[in-house]
Amino acid sequence: MDLKELKKLANALNDSEKRELVYFLQTRTTGIANQIRAIDEIQEQKHKDGLVCPHCKNHSLERFGKYAVKTRTGEVKRQRYRCNSCRQTFNDLTNTPLQRTRRPHIWVRYIECMIEGFSLRKCAEQLNDEVTHVTLFWRHKILSALKQIPTDAFQDIVEMDETYFLFSEKGRRNITERKPRKRGGKANYRGISHDQVCVLVARDRQKMTYSGVLGRGRIRTTELDEAIGRYLSDSNVLCTDSWRAFSSYANSKGLAHYRFKSDGKQRVKGVYYIQNVNSYHSCLKKWMDHFNGVATKYLQHYLVWFQYLDSKEYENTASNKKNMLVKSCLFTVTDTNTKLRISAYSC
Ligand SMILES: [Zn+2]
Repeated sequence: MDLKELKKLANALNDSEKRELVYFLQTRTTGIANQIRAIDEIQEQKHKDGLVCPHCKNHSLERFGKYAVKTRTGEVKRQRYRCNSCRQTFNDLTNTPLQRTRRPHIWVRYIECMIEGFSLRKCAEQLNDEVTHVTLFWRHKILSALKQIPTDAFQDIVEMDETYFLFSEKGRRNITERKPRKRGGKANYRGISHDQVCVLVARDRQKMTYSGVLGRGRIRTTELDEAIGRYLSDSNVLCTDSWRAFSSYANSKGLAHYRFKSDGKQRVKGVYYIQNVNSYHSCLKKWMDHFNGVATKYLQHYLVWFQYLDSKEYENTASNKKNMLVKSCLFTVTDTNTKLRISAYSC
């Protein structure tokens, strides 16, 4: 088969198959992944103000031997330290999502899969089953770290809207509360009920975004304030749909407020509209669809994941890969796999 025929065949694939093909080819060209010296970058960023003990934050440390890291090309020795105060030892990856995972070449490919938004099954395929399901749980550790990236205060116009996802206990055994619903099923009640989980998205025109799980059923103004109050000030102008909770919230905060009825007749009042947040919602829903239902306890993690991809415009570039990996190692993650599995919401 020549290249021309191959291109013709490739052109007949659907969008998601095409993306998978691009990913396949990328990972088989001159070792892009190998160029990323991730651990060096993590070390540099983590210790930019000097070495610090990750257990007690003390600065007085000593070198304490080396440990070996396996890479595709062989073993690399990395420095271990001991704290002079708490006497515990640590390395550059202690209390990060990559603690005790000693295969840097797989991390980079794993991050690539995350940027592509692959499901666990697809990730395992792409990694040629080199890692187990437990290792694939890195996803949640990485997301536990990324959700600690601070949100800045909103500027000027802020669009805000809520959307709902069906409550799901996917993966949980012995569901007692009600009969299990088939994948992607319908709510048992009409309208907004306890069967639905409210997700709030607020976004300013600089694309600073808040996205969070507020809880089950309709949400009260107090919960709105808990979620986003600290990012808003009286210099903001709020644009929302005509839901009453938003109005009373805007009033209580003394915010200028533009409302748009959900009948869609009037969508724009000059520079005021909610189209950005609405399109964020529809992209989020579409993206979530290919996971075939997400357990509600992990919903917050998926929101963080989507928000991160959105901020990087979904581009699987070398710099985005490195950034996601390095960023996720700058925050402390001490959640164990078990703890993540049993939490109600991983918030
Ligand atoms: Zn210490």
